[in-house]
Amino acid sequence: MSAVAKLIDTSTADVSTAEADAPMELTDGFHLVIDALKLNGIKTIYGVPGIPITDLGRMAQAEGMRVISFRHEQHAGNAAAIAGFLTKAPGICLTVSAPGFLNGLTALANATTNCFPMILISGSSEREIVDLQQGDYEEMDQLAIAKPLCKAAFRVLHAADIGIAVARAIRAAVSGRPGGVYLDLPAKLFSQVMDAEAGAASLVKVIDAAPAQIPAPSAIARALEELKNAKRPLIVLGKGAAYAQADELVRELVETSGIPYVPMSMAKGLLPDTHPLSAGAARSTALKDSDVVLLVGARLNWLLSHGKGKTWGAPGSKRFIQIDIEPREMDSNVEIVAPVVGDIGSCLAALLEGMGQGWKTAPADWIETLRSKREANVAKMAPKLMKNTAPMDFHSALGALRTVIKERPDAILVNEGANTLDLARGIIDMYQPRKRLDVGTWGIMGIGMGFAVAAAVETGKPVLCVEGDSAFGFSGMEVETICRYNLPVCIVVFNNNGIYRGTDTDPTGRDPATTVFVPEARYDRMMEAFGGVGAHVTTPDELKRAVDAAMDSGKPTLINAAIDPAAGSESGNIGSLNPQSVVKKKK
Ligand code: ADP
Ligand code: MG
Repeated sequence: MSAVAKLIDTSTADVSTAEADAPMELTDGFHLVIDALKLNGIKTIYGVPGIPITDLGRMAQAEGMRVISFRHEQHAGNAAAIAGFLTKAPGICLTVSAPGFLNGLTALANATTNCFPMILISGSSEREIVDLQQGDYEEMDQLAIAKPLCKAAFRVLHAADIGIAVARAIRAAVSGRPGGVYLDLPAKLFSQVMDAEAGAASLVKVIDAAPAQIPAPSAIARALEELKNAKRPLIVLGKGAAYAQADELVRELVETSGIPYVPMSMAKGLLPDTHPLSAGAARSTALKDSDVVLLVGARLNWLLSHGKGKTWGAPGSKRFIQIDIEPREMDSNVEIVAPVVGDIGSCLAALLEGMGQGWKTAPADWIETLRSKREANVAKMAPKLMKNTAPMDFHSALGALRTVIKERPDAILVNEGANTLDLARGIIDMYQPRKRLDVGTWGIMGIGMGFAVAAAVETGKPVLCVEGDSAFGFSGMEVETICRYNLPVCIVVFNNNGIYRGTDTDPTGRDPATTVFVPEARYDRMMEAFGGVGAHVTTPDELKRAVDAAMDSGKPTLINAAIDPAAGSESGNIGSLNPQSVVKKKK
């Protein structure tokens, strides 16, 4: 019997008077939250301790859960989100009230935007005081604030409702289009006591949390008809396809249909980027010249130019088929002539069944067009990747890391930055599913260390984190977390002294330019401060050797890779989104 269980609280509604004098085992809110999570197979919590959830974290650890404590809630939240993407089970982030909650909210909103299942659990202050706005410690109406930023938000006032609340949160996070869920747990809830047996009976083990969604046969027939008539068909694989874990079916779809495919960033590696039908390196041609496009778990948002404009060739030249679990995604940007609503596994299985044995493969001239374009692009890039001089530029440094991933295809690559992101996406080939984790739908900076921690914790695989120096700064303090848990994470900071470039100056001569940092900073020493390995490198060969040593040893490592401060371009590949003033003011 635990200390709490020895208490007898006869004021609790569940204690009937008839049984009042019999010794009764009790439980409380703390235990019920932990029991509810454990009952549903949740093994890990990412969070930051503090009022009122300090004991929750401690007790969860004592009960055998893995509790990973971060230095800032945003990174704990990002860890939970990517754990959700990697496992299809909701990642849990635990925070304190108001400020901690707000810090976690960016990650929750980002998870929702990216369709990653996570549950943000935050403690909150006393309802009576918060609602009357009487100035409580960390007073904030957290539920109201979270609501528009996630799929669902719940608050629990009674210990007896914890089981139902956790079940609802799990279902909301993983069913249909996955996303973020907020669970508000006021401080008072944790110490609420109830009969242990009634408490156990109140818990819910969620059965079939993300039920298969079978597509309609008519939708499959319509999609097959479109594909059959296509002359230049193309498959676009999105991170929904990676999330679905229908890897074999994705391969079968591509290989049975013989249709070339373009992977979105986090779908890279679903099939190896070196696959003969990969048109990744001929992306522009593939999007522009295709006639029928099958989207598999990819949205026609800004990352695909909304399905229109120059990227997609002549107006009206495209017919889109879309597989998605969310019916309302259809026609969101352009007309979808064959919507296939369902989970990707079920949809691909049905398409393949419809294709049967004798499906004709895509026309040879189209495949050949893309193949030769791809080879030309690869050949053009090759010399840039092989330069072994100092200072490094993005291409030569990434050339070295490209070889690392080729030699270690099961390593997980985390990637953020501007040039560091855009160029790495194209240069580093991926070979296995769900190995590339990056800034996703928003292009958010600051996911690096949170993603790295969760990738290591959830998979046990080595993690290579390729970070722009600016991007790294958003979550850099979490190197302490990486050292504390001794995680096999190797961070490479592409240090070009600033954002985009390190060469800007303040026209007035007073301050550093807005986009530059301390020149030639030694990020490697941050890692050394916490007992990890630091290295400073200036050539691609040195970089490769340092990364290999880190990956072999599994020790937390940070490699400061000196990049030519003049090498980057403004906003990487998305300079067109960055408005620039054309008005010159008279001095
Ligand atoms: P990308 O940025 O890689 O193109 P998106 O995030 O835009 O990918 O799109 C992912 C899509 O996948 C979302 O529209 C989401 O609804 C969908 N999705 C997620 N999981 C599944 C699933 N299991 N089955 C079908 N669609 C899914
Ligand atoms: Mg930089």
